[in-house]
Amino acid sequence: MRKKIVAGNWKMNNSFNRGIELATEINKLVRKQDEHNVTVILSPPYIHLAEIARIIDKDVVSVAAQNCAAEPKGAFTGEVSAKMIKSTGAQYIIIGHSERRQYYCEDNPVLKQKVLRALENSLTPIFCIGELLSERESGNHFKVVKSQLEEALFDLPANAFGKIVVAYEPVWAIGTGVTASSAQAQEMHAFIRLTIADKYGKEMADSISILYGGSCKPSNAKELFANPDVDGGLIGGAALQADDFFAIINSF
Ligand code: PEP
Repeated sequence: MRKKIVAGNWKMNNSFNRGIELATEINKLVRKQDEHNVTVILSPPYIHLAEIARIIDKDVVSVAAQNCAAEPKGAFTGEVSAKMIKSTGAQYIIIGHSERRQYYCEDNPVLKQKVLRALENSLTPIFCIGELLSERESGNHFKVVKSQLEEALFDLPANAFGKIVVAYEPVWAIGTGVTASSAQAQEMHAFIRLTIADKYGKEMADSISILYGGSCKPSNAKELFANPDVDGGLIGGAALQADDFFAIINSF
């Protein structure tokens, strides 16, 4: 059985104190649950990582960075390495978010380096892929998503690829309030799984968690997560309120 995952991407939100408060609230809600069949991940800004990793119950909540440097160490002012992230107690790194691709010009070759840095430090990459609205409208969405997988991930040997979590986030749905329909999400997730199966085999494809991201909220999470190839969500806006995020966790 592959992991069901709900990960909250806080982006550039929350002061240090508010971040600790939010993590404490979510940890408390998740802790109280009888069953823990969903992997819950909080992805705050870098400055929160170490303190949140310290205060959460690591058996029920995990921590992810939102990015890492492509280089292992050295004179790269303002950057944070995967090794530094590992030292905070984080277990995951979001890599290739569309905001990084769009605003910081991160392309597949750079993202490929970041994935390697994460894996070298025993951190699990949550690798984001997804098409622009214009790419979907021109019928190129499958082609775009396939090339993102091929160019950034498909040089990995099978044992390394098996550690990746994929997040399908159609760019037109991120932060817009427009969600992919349940059918659109399932169609693309099935395509991603098939593309992985063509490269690494069916057993590998069936073991990889593929998350949906893009305006996922308590009102639509249940329908999205009910799809056979949707293994959870990468949540932006709705991850900033403990009750909303918890409701999404409970949508399985
Ligand atoms: C995201 O940024 O990964 C995301 C899915 O954002 P939102 O849920 O706000 O669309």
